[in-house]
This record gives sequence, C-alpha cells and structure tokens, in this order.
Amino acid sequence: MGNSKLSTSDELENLIRQLGLALEASGIGIWQHNISRNQTRWDEQLKAIYGVPKGPLDVVWLESLHPEDVEATNHIFQTAIRQKTDYASQFRIIRPDHSIRHIRSRARYFIDVNGEPCFIGAEWDVTEDVLRNQELQQRQAEARYAADHDYLTGLLNRRSFDTALATLAQNPDTHVSICHIDIDRFKEINDRLGHAGGDIVLHHLSLILSQTVGDKDVAARLGGDEFAVLCVDSSDCSIDGVAKRIQSALEQPIPVNGQFLTVQCSIGIASAKSNDLTKLLSHSDVALYQAKRNGRNRCETFSPAMASNMAGERQLVADLRAALEVGQVVPFYQVQVDAKTLKISGIEALARWRHPSRGLLQPAEFLAIATTNSLIAAIDEAILKAVLADVDLWSMRGVEVPRISVNLSAERLNDPLLIEKLNRLNIPAGRISFELIETIFLDSLNDQIKANLEGIRDLGIEIEIDDLGSGHASLLGLVELRPDRVKIDRQLVAPILQSVTRRRLVGSLVDIAKTLDIQVVAEGVETFEHADVLADLGVEFLQGYAFGRPEVAHDFEKRLRGTPLPVRRLA
Ligand code: C2E
Ligand code: CA
Ligand code: CA
Repeated sequence: MGNSKLSTSDELENLIRQLGLALEASGIGIWQHNISRNQTRWDEQLKAIYGVPKGPLDVVWLESLHPEDVEATNHIFQTAIRQKTDYASQFRIIRPDHSIRHIRSRARYFIDVNGEPCFIGAEWDVTEDVLRNQELQQRQAEARYAADHDYLTGLLNRRSFDTALATLAQNPDTHVSICHIDIDRFKEINDRLGHAGGDIVLHHLSLILSQTVGDKDVAARLGGDEFAVLCVDSSDCSIDGVAKRIQSALEQPIPVNGQFLTVQCSIGIASAKSNDLTKLLSHSDVALYQAKRNGRNRCETFSPAMASNMAGERQLVADLRAALEVGQVVPFYQVQVDAKTLKISGIEALARWRHPSRGLLQPAEFLAIATTNSLIAAIDEAILKAVLADVDLWSMRGVEVPRISVNLSAERLNDPLLIEKLNRLNIPAGRISFELIETIFLDSLNDQIKANLEGIRDLGIEIEIDDLGSGHASLLGLVELRPDRVKIDRQLVAPILQSVTRRRLVGSLVDIAKTLDIQVVAEGVETFEHADVLADLGVEFLQGYAFGRPEVAHDFEKRLRGTPLPVRRLA
C-alpha cells in the first residue's frame, strides 16, 4: 500500500517534470494547489503568463482576475473543491502591465501522498483565439444585419419583411394590416436634387416610420421609394390613424441642400386575419396604386372591386404595350382650315387604337392609363413615325400635304434622349408642328424641357400651345416660350354664340397672341356660325367637326386630293 503510494507520487513528480519540459514549448503553465493547507505552487511558465506576480500565489491568482470575472471563476473553483471533481474554467486576468489576457484553466482533483486533497492544473493563454472568435462573431453579426436591413435607411429590407409576414401567418387569430407607402413624384425629386438629395428624403421618411410604428409593428423599405409598415392587432381605425400620422409628419418641410422641400406620399392599406396573409402585400399594393390614380397624397383601403378594376387595367396596359409593337396604335387625321378662305391649312394627327377585340378605341379610353404607366411617350413616338410614313407615301403619290401637328406629352418633352430620337427620324424642316398642352408651361420650365424645346426648334419643328384657356392660362409661359401658334380650347369656343363675355374673352386671347406675333387656331368648331364669329375675332385657323372629323389615313388622302369638302357655309 505504502509502496504503491510512493510510486504514484514518484510517477506524478516525474510526470510533472516531463510535462514541464513538454509544455514549455507549448506555453502551458502548471499549478498545484493543496486544498487543506491552502498552498499553491506555480511553475515558471505560469508565472510568465501572469506577468511574474509577487506574493502568495493563491492571493496573486484572485487579485489578477478581471473584476468582472472574479465571482464566476471563484464559484467554479469552490464548487470543484466541494464536489471533489475536476475543474475547468476560462477567465480574464489583468497583468501588472495592465494588459488583459484570456486564460483557459483545466485541473484534476487528486489525493496526494499525505492523503491530502489537491488540484493539479494547467493554464494557457487563449487571448488570440478569443479575439479571433470575437471578430468572427462581430463579422457574422454584421453580415446578418446587412442581410436583414436596408443599407440606406437601416429599416428592415424586403426579405425580412416577407419573413416577418410569414411568421405572423403562423400565429392564429392575429389581425394584420399593412400600410404600403410610396413617395409622390420621387423621380422628380431625384432629378431636381440629385441622388444624394433623394437619399435624404428616403432617410427622412424612414425616421418617420420608425417613430410611428408600435413595439410589435415592423417598418421596412421594400425597394426604391416604396416602404411598408406592418401593424399587428390594430383596428381598422387605428391603421388609418397610422397612415394619417405618416402623411402629416412627412408634410413638414425637409431641409435638403440648404432649401426646404415639401414631400408627400400615397398610402395603400390592406388588412387580414393571420390565416389569410398570402395576398395581403399585393392587396396593399393595389390600394396604393388606387391612391396614386386618385390623385396622390392620399390613402386608400383595399377592396375586392379595386382588384378586379386593376386586373382589367393591367390587361389593358399589357395589350397596349403589345399594340405599340405591332402598330395597332395609328394616327387619324383632322383638317384645319384657313378661317378666311376655308381652304385646308393644316392637319392634326390624333391617336386611335385598333384593338383586336374591342374595336377602334378613342384616346379617352387609353391615354390616362398610358400616362400612369409611362407609355404615353411611346404613343407619341409611334404616332409621329406613322405620320412621317404617311406623309412620305402621300408625297410619293403626288398629294400635296400641308403642315401636320402631332401631340407631344409632358413625359416625352422631358425625355433627355428626345432630340437624339427625333434626329434619327430625318424630319423635313417646316412640315411638322408639336402641340404641347398648356399645363406644361404653368411652372417655370426645367432645364431639360428648355433644351428639348430649343432642339425641336433647331430641327425646324414648330411649337403650338394646345388647349389654351382650358386650365390656368400662363401668359408668362406664352411670353417666355413664344410658340408659333396657340390653340384655343373648345370649351372656350363653344359658348361664343350665346355669350358676349365669352366672345370677348376669346377676342382678348386673340389680341394677346397677335401682339406676341403668335398665330391662333380655334378648336371644336362645330358650326359655321362659330366659324364666322371666330373669323371676325381674328382667329386664323379653324379645326372642328364643321370641317371634318378625325379620319383614317386613306379617307384623309382622298380629302387631300381635293375631293370637295362635304360642307357648305350656313351663314
Ligand atoms: P386635343 O389635342 O385637344 O385634340 C382634339 C380633340 O377634340 C380630339 O379628340 C378631336 O377628335 C376632338 N374634336 C375635334 N373637333 C371637334 C369638335 O368639333 N367638337 C368636339 N366636341 N370635339 C372635337 P380625340 O381625338 O379624342 O383626342 C383627345 C385628346 O387626346 C387630344 O385632345 C389630345 O390631348 C390627346 N391625344 C390624342 N392623340 C394623342 C397623341 O398622339 N399623343 C398625345 N400625347 N395625346 C394625344
Ligand atoms: Ca392637340
Ligand atoms: Ca386641343
């Protein structure tokens, strides 16, 4: 028994010596602790790890521990003593040079030669590993954050929004609402202030959203200038309240690049029980679209009727896109006559859509949709190309063709590539005139429009202001732009027979135009009585059903060939 004890102790001493040598290379320090005598021995290596502290080693150990780690580490140590088990812990120490190191410690409980309980332990410095790990975790956390959040605003991104919605779908009996938000005219904001300015606006809205949502709610940027707020268990009236708060907060002027900008948004709302969330986002999108259609800066709540309207409209938009490709959108032609001689003086080309199943569609049936879906410029272009082709054909056949007016939408007038596109069409100078609706000139013209107007004039294309008097006539615009002609709106023309004041109004418009050396066309001339009065007022050209309706190209060709007009003067 005694022998065996002696040999165990010898072996142990031997082992420690061997370990000392073997571990010297690996930087592992060894300690022994006699529990009953409370005596501790450290080898040189361990002293080096702790920075060669002075004093009783058990005291040194406790005092070296990082204050935040003392309690937990000592607890583990005391527990191992009480339970007479092996010991393992990791803690920080502060060395005399104030550097912080991470130490891993492992110890074995044993009874020594004197029958006294002891620990034999090994400790090594794992600071590098810990730091590397921390950095790794930090980077993983950053990567997770980046994957879940929008880089610009810090809101959740589309992916996380979908995840949040999917999670809600698993909670039974939850009432979920979405406010789907889109900034009004964001493209114009971007064009005017540059992308940095646009970013400020996006950021501003995201702040408003974060401040508006409740703890359980989610605010996300779905992309571009499209945002969404997901509200849980809100009543219909409180979701309306959320939408109103967002809109009124956004209406406070935002400081951007030293000026104050007022921004508005449209909101679509949809609500559903959690077991029926699959279509919620597309429903809020439909409502949002409706809010845009109804004039922006408003809030609409989804209804099934809205969805079916929109499905019909989507179909029409898809059809229109295809129609433009295959040439179903064609010009009809309406004559303009000289008010004195009643001879043909000009032509207006007006768009018609030969719809394969619905027949011939008038602009009223497709222009609004074309405008909201950014197809109006494509229509203008298709009409202009078809007009040029018809002019070529008619000229080739020896028909004399007067000047043709083609309508030009605001969207196309804003196109930075407009002049390049027109250049490619080799438009003969003096043959074509563009009609621009009056509202384009309400505000001061932006640089793009100014450049395009100049380019249009350089190409020998004349400029007319359409529908003059229909809205807020901008005389300043007239002076600034100096169009070749103005077209007096048919709403102004119609009442001139009954009302002296209305007649005078047209008369003064004519006078102003004449002072500025601008020619005047009257539209919507339905009778020859109108024609007479207009001629007396000094209007130079007349257009209206009295002289001809818009006609398909081959009928109009006959008219140009001199087939007598099927009308006579009534007066
Ligand atoms: P607008 O430019 O003012 O065109 C004149 C409209 O008045 C035409 O309607 C024409 O058919 C109609 N009209 C002509 N004479 C009379 C008349 O005596 N009495 C009445 N009540 N109406 C008359 P339309 O062809 O339906 O075009 C409507 C509007 O659609 C046009 O108004 C124009 O703003 C727009 N539009 C037509 N084609 C194009 C196009 O190619 N591009 C663009 N951007 N807009 C177009
Ligand atoms: Ca027109
Ligand atoms: Ca007009």
